[in-house]
Amino acid sequence: MPATIRFFEQVNRYFDRASSTLEYPPGLLSLIKSCNAVYHVSFPLRRDDGTIEVIHGWRAHHSQHRLPVKGGIRISEHASEDEVTALAALMTYKCALLDLPFGGAKGAIRAEKENYSDAELERIIRRYTFELVQRNCLGAEVDVPGPDMGIGQREIAWISDTYSALTRGDGAGGAAITGKPLSQGGVRGRVEATGRGVYFGVREAVAQKEDMDRLGLPLGLEGKTVVIQGLGNVGYHAGKFIQGDGGKIVGIVERDGAIYDERGFDIDSVAAHRANGGSILEIDAHLRLPPEESAAGLEWPCDILLPAAIENVIHEGNAPRLNTKIVAEAANGPTTAAASELLRERGIKVIPDLYLNAGGVTVSYFEWVKNLSRIRFGRMGRRFEAASNGKILHAVEGLTGRSFPEDVFARVAVGASEEDLVNSGLEETMVAGYHQIREFAATQGVDFRSAAFAIAIRKVAISYQERGIFP
Ligand code: NAD
Repeated sequence: MPATIRFFEQVNRYFDRASSTLEYPPGLLSLIKSCNAVYHVSFPLRRDDGTIEVIHGWRAHHSQHRLPVKGGIRISEHASEDEVTALAALMTYKCALLDLPFGGAKGAIRAEKENYSDAELERIIRRYTFELVQRNCLGAEVDVPGPDMGIGQREIAWISDTYSALTRGDGAGGAAITGKPLSQGGVRGRVEATGRGVYFGVREAVAQKEDMDRLGLPLGLEGKTVVIQGLGNVGYHAGKFIQGDGGKIVGIVERDGAIYDERGFDIDSVAAHRANGGSILEIDAHLRLPPEESAAGLEWPCDILLPAAIENVIHEGNAPRLNTKIVAEAANGPTTAAASELLRERGIKVIPDLYLNAGGVTVSYFEWVKNLSRIRFGRMGRRFEAASNGKILHAVEGLTGRSFPEDVFARVAVGASEEDLVNSGLEETMVAGYHQIREFAATQGVDFRSAAFAIAIRKVAISYQERGIFP
């Protein structure tokens, strides 16, 4: 891989490219671009064997033009101040793009999860939470973290519990953190939300005839070949929904190796095998790459390449060799700015991370609203809606003189559940978001990434201009 440019610098290059088409004073653009605050904490961990180790963690608040700020927490051996700042910036633009009322933030703990016992991990996460609370970096109206790499419902529950132990509850019904298990005030559909959102975005992309004609691809997901990097929360769920709609997962690129087969893999079987401790290289496949060469799997032929692991995996070194028509950026920052130029020149369509993986924060927004209002979505209206639908069906029967089969009543004369409402809100956000970007790109003659950034920058700029500057 060629010399690395800092991740935050990559994001700012995208920002500069997009903002050059907008007429805002340079000072305002600098204000939007800069990261307001980064907190670096280091704290001791007592390991199970009694030794002491120092752990480093960060929380970046990129922009407070809207409060609370919002962004996941990740645990990774590669975590750094640069990474967390870049990811916080992406959160600012992501939330603005999709009209989610948050500023951008991100958190990270530098640790290789596999090296710690569950008890050690719990101590790390609870102590990191304590450090955030000490700095007023947690709270329903201040800063609302959520899950990211290596952080799932279990870890989120520890954070939520530590927060309420330290604050005796802040009166906001768990709204200080999202991605919680249901029993802790979580919302149905959050676990799979990012992957489901990726699916909605990809589905929308392949439904545009003009765009597919230009790429020489048929319409729809049926039969489209997909290579996925990272079979974690996002990659697995995105792959599962795409496969469920006719897409064929022909390649999987993981840390322990990569596999390829034109016949396609059953993503659930691969995930189940890995969950039971099996290696990806034990799966029956036409081609295999060992761990140290697995990144070369990104170059395997496919219609859609779906990076869903880490940043900077598509760079100047491999961008000329990618054998795909579409890059669907499920991960944050998978493509460097230089590679992005090369992909544009090669006519490869990029669906940018800024938009494509925003399903997670969208559903986190729903969870936050649920916690603030302290009522499950659908609880008030579901029976009423079911009765209304039933009345409409009976009225149609009365008018036509024909009866609907019982199963039609069972399917139609029901009200929406919380999961129905969450998924519907997510679909609406992703579909409307796609067309907002596509229209801007077409009218301004820019690519999708620049369009997404420009739309976001405009919204943040309006907010800053209207708020003025303190003091
Ligand atoms: P995860 O920890 O659940 O999964 C990551 C997967 O990538 C793991 O299976 C891991 O083994 C694999 N991986 C890591 N390094 C790799 C490498 N070098 N090569 C191949 N595979 C590798 O994480 P996740 O939550 O699915 O997040 C994945 C990406 O999606 C990240 O960029 C994250 O910031 C982004 N994202 C996540 C969410 C969310 O809700 N979880 C929301 C938005 C964006």
